[in-house]
Amino acid sequence: MSAPLTIAATLASAGLAKEAIAEAKPGDVALLARRCACGNPMDRRYPQCTTCWDAQAKADREAAAIRSLPEIHRGCRFGTKELAHWCGDKEAIKRAREFVVDFPPVPMVTIWGETRAGKSALASAVAIAVRVRHRRPFLFVDARDLGRARAECGFGHEPELLRKAKSIPVLVIDELGKESELVRANPEDVVCVITERLRRQLLTICTTEWSPLEHAPNGKRLHDIYAPSVVQRLTERWSAGPPPKGCALVIEVQKK
Ligand SMILES: [Zn+2]
Repeated sequence: MSAPLTIAATLASAGLAKEAIAEAKPGDVALLARRCACGNPMDRRYPQCTTCWDAQAKADREAAAIRSLPEIHRGCRFGTKELAHWCGDKEAIKRAREFVVDFPPVPMVTIWGETRAGKSALASAVAIAVRVRHRRPFLFVDARDLGRARAECGFGHEPELLRKAKSIPVLVIDELGKESELVRANPEDVVCVITERLRRQLLTICTTEWSPLEHAPNGKRLHDIYAPSVVQRLTERWSAGPPPKGCALVIEVQKK
């Protein structure tokens, strides 16, 4: 009679639920009756308790998100000198920051401006702030890598990068439009990613040198490389309505 009591007592001291104790067999004690350093009971068959496992997985995902950012922009946060160093357009920074604070259900943020205006730095700051403030994981990817993903993957497989790009809660597509200049690539995959994300109402932040306007100062217009329906998704101003209209917030970044 004493053995089952010992098992029950041991398991109870390990913090196991009553139901688990009732079903426990003598051999289970060795497996279950151990506490993790965090204080939770754990199964000896696994190296960590599920709480620590989940925490580790979360930390790994966050580290992967930060690693996906360009190294020079990993420290870009709103209100820091680092962001101001890369992006001199205070009005653009203000508008991007307001978006993060208000966080309206806008699925598309299009950041456009000429080369070295600070678009990627601003997009990085938005992605980091959305993760911190709204707990949405993100991935930062160059449009050219999305365009090349299929060519670099075995035939008949959905490239892992495309699969992730379509499903991650927040995606930054940097240098949108440059995929159209690649040879041996699938630039239409970039449009597929954008379309799929809009269908799922997932936030996509694009940076581009191609202008949403009819008359572009640098001669590069989104209209020249994308179908009108795609340009509309990238640029038509979102309004909550009713009736709801458009899906984008367009932020122009001036080089200063
Ligand atoms: Zn633990």
